Amino acid sequence: MISPAKSTLKDFNLRLTDCRAEMLVIFNEKGHALSHGDIEGMLTEKFDRVTLYRTLKTFLEKGLIHKVLDDEGGAKYALCRDACHTTDQQHHHDHVHFKCNVCGLTNCLDDVRVPTLELPQGYQRRETTLLVQGICPLCNIQDN
Ligand SMILES: [Zn+2]
Ligand SMILES: [Zn+2]
Ligand SMILES: [Zn+2]
Repeated sequence: MISPAKSTLKDFNLRLTDCRAEMLVIFNEKGHALSHGDIEGMLTEKFDRVTLYRTLKTFLEKGLIHKVLDDEGGAKYALCRDACHTTDQQHHHDHVHFKCNVCGLTNCLDDVRVPTLELPQGYQRRETTLLVQGICPLCNIQDN
């Protein structure tokens, strides 16, 4: 069950631990962005909070996952995909995120780029995050 996770960890030069493997499996299976609370809810019986927190932090630092802003003030995390690596050697997250107001799930729209903004002089851009809210295709279908 954890062999894809295993090879991902290897690609990122991370030692295989149960917690890392299982967290990766969850990210892969769910597909959408997960909050710290979501992850805790799914793994709390197996791992303590500190381990979960550290694993999440390691994944962020290594570029396996990226932060997604949430409208409720918290953060969510989404798996990094190939889209993160396309431009030169750098790791970019200039894609748009979409939060569905019906199911509450946030997804990466890998092919939708955040538009370039002209900033006033003296302001230096580090990153731009854009969260679009609305109704996702799945909820849209169920509505009709
Ligand atoms: Zn990324
Ligand atoms: Zn939805
Ligand atoms: Zn994303």
